[in-house]
Amino acid sequence: MMMRPRFRFGARARLLTALGVFALICGGVEPPVVRADPAQLAGAFGSSTVTTERLGGTDQYAVAVAISQRLFPHGGAPVVYLAGGQNYADALAAGPIAAREDGAILYTAGSSLTAAVGRELVRLAPARVEVMGGASVIADNVLDQVATILAPTTVVERVAGSDACGTAAALSARSFGRSAASTVFVASAQSPADAIAAGPAAAQLGSPLLLVNATSLPATTAAELVRLEPDRVFVVGNASAVSDEVLNAIELIVPETVRVSGADAYATAGAVAARFLPRAATEVAAEVMAGALGYADGLPAVPLAAARQAPILFVPANDVLPNPTRDAIVAARPSRFVIAGSVSEVVRAQLVGFSDGRLTVPAPTPAYPAYDSGYHDYGEMVTLIKATEIAYPTLVHVFSIGKSYEGRDIWAAKISENVSIDTDEPGVLVDALHHADEHLGVEQALYLLATLTSGYATDPTVHQLVDSRVIWIVFALNPDGWAYDLSGGQYHYWRKNRQPYGGYYGTDINRNYGYRWACCGGSSSRPLAYNFHGPSAWSTPEARALRDFVASRVVNGVEQIKTHVTLHVNGELILYPYGYTKTALPSDMKADDYAVFVKMAQTMAHMNGYTAEQSSHLYITDGDEIDWLYHQYGIFSFTFELYPKELGSLTADVYPPYSVVATQTARNRGALLYLIYAAGCPYAVIGKAAQYCSGSPVVTPSSGLLG
Ligand SMILES: [Zn+2]
Repeated sequence: MMMRPRFRFGARARLLTALGVFALICGGVEPPVVRADPAQLAGAFGSSTVTTERLGGTDQYAVAVAISQRLFPHGGAPVVYLAGGQNYADALAAGPIAAREDGAILYTAGSSLTAAVGRELVRLAPARVEVMGGASVIADNVLDQVATILAPTTVVERVAGSDACGTAAALSARSFGRSAASTVFVASAQSPADAIAAGPAAAQLGSPLLLVNATSLPATTAAELVRLEPDRVFVVGNASAVSDEVLNAIELIVPETVRVSGADAYATAGAVAARFLPRAATEVAAEVMAGALGYADGLPAVPLAAARQAPILFVPANDVLPNPTRDAIVAARPSRFVIAGSVSEVVRAQLVGFSDGRLTVPAPTPAYPAYDSGYHDYGEMVTLIKATEIAYPTLVHVFSIGKSYEGRDIWAAKISENVSIDTDEPGVLVDALHHADEHLGVEQALYLLATLTSGYATDPTVHQLVDSRVIWIVFALNPDGWAYDLSGGQYHYWRKNRQPYGGYYGTDINRNYGYRWACCGGSSSRPLAYNFHGPSAWSTPEARALRDFVASRVVNGVEQIKTHVTLHVNGELILYPYGYTKTALPSDMKADDYAVFVKMAQTMAHMNGYTAEQSSHLYITDGDEIDWLYHQYGIFSFTFELYPKELGSLTADVYPPYSVVATQTARNRGALLYLIYAAGCPYAVIGKAAQYCSGSPVVTPSSGLLG
């Protein structure tokens, strides 16, 4: 191992003692090799050859300790770089240096050393501890605490400049002699993700990492560039991270200055991976939360990634990989991922699935406007439900019930324990997005999928229901209308499908079902109309696909699906049949069925705060789904009109902002679980289980489920 001359610039270095330092460092610590843990490989989503290893923790302090323990399972780190856990810009440049010195990076709170970090320092027993940044980042007493717990031979010193850029320059000056680096990496002190992504690349090229401000080249950084005299500089980050003016100023010092960047931090990390580490067998994925501090999990991963010659990519705190991260994985197809921080099972499944080929990049579909980008578009929905299948292979099976008019798949999931086995357990159907602009319904369907899968291991009610029911979710019955509604980056208030007729586009799929179609003034015969019922019942391929799927669940003459809800927007209503007539109990409905409908609707409304009423209460609808499902199969079928109540503004009513999605979908958890429960014997809710369901698998409700 090489030992470089030590320089200290701008540092208030505290040399406790130098005795033994050289002997310890030169004593030969083998480069760390991260080995796969067989126990973790076995659980990697069935038979995939792609593995994931999680180095998690409750916060960045714990994540750094977990990474350190992976790098040094038997202790013995030659050097530890100590970074401020709340302000780690001063430590960004330590990433590639720690990698070069086969060291570790740990975080400390600014004012004192926590017990867990102290224990890890003692375990590592480093010869040197480099505290990154001035006393405002990490106080002097932290250095005292570190010195107290470690051997007296340990060097504990501070590397600091007047700011993060100055600290990076000081660290470079200490670590690299004049003209010792042919390549220098530069990133912005305000864009920690870019600096972290640059880390493994800089380590690979034996380069220092210097920092600049977004719009200014600090004198300390410029002076260090002059001193280093590199052949080339890579500026990592786009023009909003490091302005063109700053790049030009660097170019005056080092003519060969090249920008490596993408549209955002995800894409910049992907660009670094593609340029410097294109065929890595391993990628280190770091979690990203809202705000720059979320990147903190990535910094201690730099030495680990560098040891494996792996790039660092970033994954989001939500459930779908950003496209640049996804594309970087598809390009590199790594066989192994190390995850710093914690990610959801569905995100982990995407890392694996895009690498082993079980997930493919969906065809481009129109995306939501930027202000609502949290909503899942069609492609994101497909990725998410397929990733859920990979993550929960025994619980979820994803399939298409047919094609839309324009040929898009109408995706569905079956959820049950031992999902590959067809059982006679009571069935439940949930569908969404008959109407193309009612996007919240898709989110509600995805919420239910997540609830039933992620909750299976932890929630006794969910576990019991998944064990005793077959739940079918059709996520978006009208994908064509959906794509049209989002086309051009703005909303179009488009409700129908995209099937042309009579010179106009679109049939209202929920007026196209075959019971009492076009009977009663509850739809329009004009092709221009928003509620055009089509030229004939079942003229839309989407309604036919739903019809044929439900028919496929008839086993030995008995429809297996017992309860159903179709998700619409808006009004906060729970509607039950019939829609074609205002008569509550017409001759085509049994009195006991009516009682079940009312009881179930009222119970669910009690749970979610909606209003229960007959579908025709406000206006007549004919040829709709719930009338047909009840009349054809006796399915207890409901319409949920989701948030909000009528606000009077079309935009507010149909397009609630993404910020309400989490609250408004979670709001229906109880009602949806009740719907699933009631499928066991719907007549049980009116006390007639013995009359209707003798011999049927009536399942005792979990406590609290009856509201
Ligand atoms: Zn609707």
